[in-house]
Amino acid sequence: MNIAVIGAGTMGNGIAHVFAQHGYKTNLIDISSESLEKGVATIGKNLDRMIAKELITDADKESTLNRITTFTVLSEGVKEVQLVIEAATENTELKLKIFGELDTLCPPDTILATNTSSISITQIAAATKRADRVIGMHFMNPVPIMNLVEIIRGYNTSDKVTHTIMELAKNLGKTPTEVNDYPGFVANRILMPMINEAIETLYNKVAGVTEIDTVMKLGMAHPMGPLQLADFIGLDVCLSILNVMYDGFKNPKYAPCPLLVNMVMAGKLGVKSGEGFYDYSTSRKAEKVSPQFS
Ligand code: NAD
Repeated sequence: MNIAVIGAGTMGNGIAHVFAQHGYKTNLIDISSESLEKGVATIGKNLDRMIAKELITDADKESTLNRITTFTVLSEGVKEVQLVIEAATENTELKLKIFGELDTLCPPDTILATNTSSISITQIAAATKRADRVIGMHFMNPVPIMNLVEIIRGYNTSDKVTHTIMELAKNLGKTPTEVNDYPGFVANRILMPMINEAIETLYNKVAGVTEIDTVMKLGMAHPMGPLQLADFIGLDVCLSILNVMYDGFKNPKYAPCPLLVNMVMAGKLGVKSGEGFYDYSTSRKAEKVSPQFS
């Protein structure tokens, strides 16, 4: 099976990495050649880490990278693939546009999957004439390490396509879990209110960044505090997901904290922009609290 991944950002490069490492010829597509270069460099670095841990060999790295071809033009990257996984920016209009184009560009039996964190699979499928072949394949960040893939059935997704994608996820060494299509699905419906509440707690000056994260790490045995996790996911991504749930359920409990909205408008997006709740100007580790909160 040949596959295409759309978007070479945080998630797209991880998805391409995992497919290529498991022997799939993978086309990685992005409108930005800079994103493609960065994405492939990240895959190389992550493979080096696996070599250092003796999980793979130098030859495995080379063959994995050789299976990845990059494209900036969608029509060139998707014409001969059996599966597309879309991992472009979390924006409904953008995804509807991409799926409309994919429907005309891809062979009729190609399965169109999206890695969206929260946008309706049913709505995305409605932009195509193959709603039975559209499905959510929600990988977790970082993709090469995290085991779960949330498989989301849209209203019209067929049993056959769901079965194919569940089996495919297992072939990648992942654990697929099938859920239905409601805003935020399961993972983000539970995670994002917690992250939003942590930001609200900071906004209300109940405690500082380090204190909030320490309480959740040591008190709840979370490997990472919610503010650090928000930085890692991307504050823009967190905001988009909360807005989708807020709009979808019409329930104020999902309203994004004004501090999160302000930080995104100010370009403080977390690790990817160099600053969020923590300062990443010298390291990708959350060692220094952002000057704004220290
Ligand atoms: P990102 O901002 O890191 O990367 C998005 C990439 O999409 C960029 O490289 C951008 O150039 C590219 N892009 C934008 N428009 C495009 C187009 N028309 N064609 C091709 N490429 C295009 O975003 P991300 O964090 O990787 O998120 C991607 C998707 O994965 C989103 O739907 C997001 O909700 C989902 N997701 C994110 C996380 C996370 O932790 N960040 C986890 C699970 C799912």
